[in-house]
Amino acid sequence: MENNNTPLIELRNISKSFGETKVLRNINLTINRNEFVTLLGPSGCGKTTTLRILGGFESPTSGEVYFEGKDISSVPPYERESNTVFQSYALFPHLDVYDNIAFGLRIETLEKREYPNVELTKKEKIKKFFYNKTKKYTETEIEEKVNAVIKLVNLTGMENRSVTNLSGGQRQRVAIARAIILRPKILLLDESLSALDLKLRKDMQYELKELQRSTGITFVFVTHDQEEALTMSDKIVLMKDGNVEQQGTAEEIYNEPVNRYVANFIGDSNILSGKVIDSRHVEFDGEKFLMDETNFPDGTEVDVMMRPEDLDIVYPSKGKLTGVVDSIFFKGVFYEVDVTLDNKRIVTIHTTDYIPAGKKVGINFDTEDITLMEKMK
Ligand code: ATP
Repeated sequence: MENNNTPLIELRNISKSFGETKVLRNINLTINRNEFVTLLGPSGCGKTTTLRILGGFESPTSGEVYFEGKDISSVPPYERESNTVFQSYALFPHLDVYDNIAFGLRIETLEKREYPNVELTKKEKIKKFFYNKTKKYTETEIEEKVNAVIKLVNLTGMENRSVTNLSGGQRQRVAIARAIILRPKILLLDESLSALDLKLRKDMQYELKELQRSTGITFVFVTHDQEEALTMSDKIVLMKDGNVEQQGTAEEIYNEPVNRYVANFIGDSNILSGKVIDSRHVEFDGEKFLMDETNFPDGTEVDVMMRPEDLDIVYPSKGKLTGVVDSIFFKGVFYEVDVTLDNKRIVTIHTTDYIPAGKKVGINFDTEDITLMEKMK
């Protein structure tokens, strides 16, 4: 029996190859009700393929897709409780905004009939099949639903406009309205903001998140843009070469990246090679530093990550590390300062203070600013 604790949709041990090319390698993914999930990663890492498997447009080479606890791996897209907004939006150019949105509601439900004792040709079968269609909604019901969705996506007043002369943002709203009007449990969105200019893209990020919240539909969104992922997601799934490197909230991924790839993909970072001494100490740059408790066993070679905004520039005598300012760039809200440490390694610091190049400085940080990550193979 399904209950609210059952994940909405799960990918279990999903692998996918196209010919000899392995595109997904044993992916496990759990998506819950009412979540905004983002599949994030560089071009070619397998995001779209994962989305297409969730939607039923692609079948996995191995592994299963579960929906509310049931195996739906072989269920075709039109029988799944998901709907997709494609990158191209795929609107019907000959229909206006209203009719594009109403389209899904007007498709007649087809009743499958058995004709056990009659031998029919293929043509006759098709004919029979279409003879048994019934309408699901009256035009009055459709009007009510379309108007409600048009309001939700801020397209009021545009009902009779042709979709061919809408802006990118308006076309996207039509595509989303057309998808959510059918009340799917999951909405799959493939790079759907990538055609928009930066300003509109930012506005749409907030609107999409708000739409997800107000409809309660689970959104699975594909992007290669880390900022987009951080702004909108309840859960980020960061992918690389057909693997899931890490999944978690934006804060978890930003504050506790599991490895150098994740740390570099999301935000700026300083990564130094180090070695765990014991559960409270790590060694890097030839010195021993106190940190918050770690589970890495003593002696493990690790990557040590510190975010530029967590480092403070202090007098050399007060610093845990010392070096000389190499360069300083004004970034709007802060200065980005590169400091060459005594051992010639460069560390980046974000600060609101102006510190001239050539100045000798100390660098300080707190125990919780040290994040240990496994070394990548
Ligand atoms: P992008 O952001 O560029 O869309 P992506 O992360 O969504 O990339 P996918 O589209 O899932 O990546 O593609 C992953 C890999 O699989 C790519 O190398 C791609 O060329 C390959 N691929 C995808 N679809 C097919 C196909 N139908 N036949 C062969 N190879 C494919």
